[in-house]
Amino acid sequence: MAQKRDYYEILGVSKSASEDEIKKAYRKMAVKYHPDKNPDNKEAEEKFKEAAEAYEVLSNSQKKAQYDRFGHAGMGGAAGGGFGGGGMNMEDIFSQFGDIFGGGDESPFGSFFNQGRGGGGRRQRRGTDLRIKLKLNLEEIANGVEKKIKVKRHVACKSCSGNGSKNGTDLKTCGTCQGSGQVRQVQQTMLGQMVTSSTCPHCSGEGKTVGAKCGDCFGEGRVLEEEIIPIKIPAGVSNDMQLSMSGKGNVPPRGGVAGDLLIVIEEEAHDLLHRDGNNVIYDLYVNFVDAALGTSVEVPTIGGKAKITLDAGTQSGKILRLKGKGIKELNGYSIGDQLVHVNIWTPKQVSKEETELLEKLRASPNFAPQPGKAEKGFFHKVRDMFS
Ligand SMILES: [Zn+2]
Ligand SMILES: [Zn+2]
Repeated sequence: MAQKRDYYEILGVSKSASEDEIKKAYRKMAVKYHPDKNPDNKEAEEKFKEAAEAYEVLSNSQKKAQYDRFGHAGMGGAAGGGFGGGGMNMEDIFSQFGDIFGGGDESPFGSFFNQGRGGGGRRQRRGTDLRIKLKLNLEEIANGVEKKIKVKRHVACKSCSGNGSKNGTDLKTCGTCQGSGQVRQVQQTMLGQMVTSSTCPHCSGEGKTVGAKCGDCFGEGRVLEEEIIPIKIPAGVSNDMQLSMSGKGNVPPRGGVAGDLLIVIEEEAHDLLHRDGNNVIYDLYVNFVDAALGTSVEVPTIGGKAKITLDAGTQSGKILRLKGKGIKELNGYSIGDQLVHVNIWTPKQVSKEETELLEKLRASPNFAPQPGKAEKGFFHKVRDMFS
């Protein structure tokens, strides 16, 4: 496969282009390469598709952010399950972006885009998207996971092949629009005659009407079905991130393309570990005897437990790094670390005997704080950790 071109380059805009500039740039490209203006021109069609794909990503703030960070790799085509952009067909383009030309004041091409293609034929209708929330725990996020999710979606009725008529055969061409799905109106304006077209009110743009209705779907052409859909969640996703599976939403009534299934990630908080980007933070508490004499302790990690050694004389606030025990980067190769933040626990209450022991130590010279260069303050430590 040929190397994909940069989306900004395709639309001829800079990375800092505003939403409006991106829209204008896309409109220009789409007009230039529109199939109605370039019949049987394969190259124009490719350019038209390419521009639509670029616009699909750059007009969506979330997809744009992902693309800005990760490039084409971030668009997740390989992550499985058909996520992300890429590979748009003509029907997708017309159903998603057809309205970019609709009645815009800057559009000299007016409504031709809205009329669909092929001699004003009706355009493919698209069903609604389905949105579900998916809860994931830290382990699942760290490594990626395969889930089976149950969704109720409208699918084409098998008895009538989705057209809603009895046995799938009792269909008539709509008399109001003669099957085009569109009705035209001619208006006189200051600038001369203007032709506008709108969806046929009789057949709702379907171009056909149902005679005897299918008994299984009552003429709707679709039925509600429960479906188990396997999905592959890549490692490194985060809260509120939205993944989409094209064609797994609802089909519209009486034929058309299905919408998308949108999966919104909900991150479950972990009892002990705290996520910070792709790193994981654990607050470890040790008593000051362990800190003074050194010890080895077990700490929880994403993959289970890990043993760490505290040197004698460990100071409160020390941060130990467990390399590679964090979260895999989304669509990348790097992996985060676990940071163990050491806190020295001071007893909140002490018995009489303990008080006596501690009193003996109070005046001991080694117990007098002597912070040196090695004992960096908190802000320096944090800075060093992330530099
Ligand atoms: Zn009609
Ligand atoms: Zn049916």
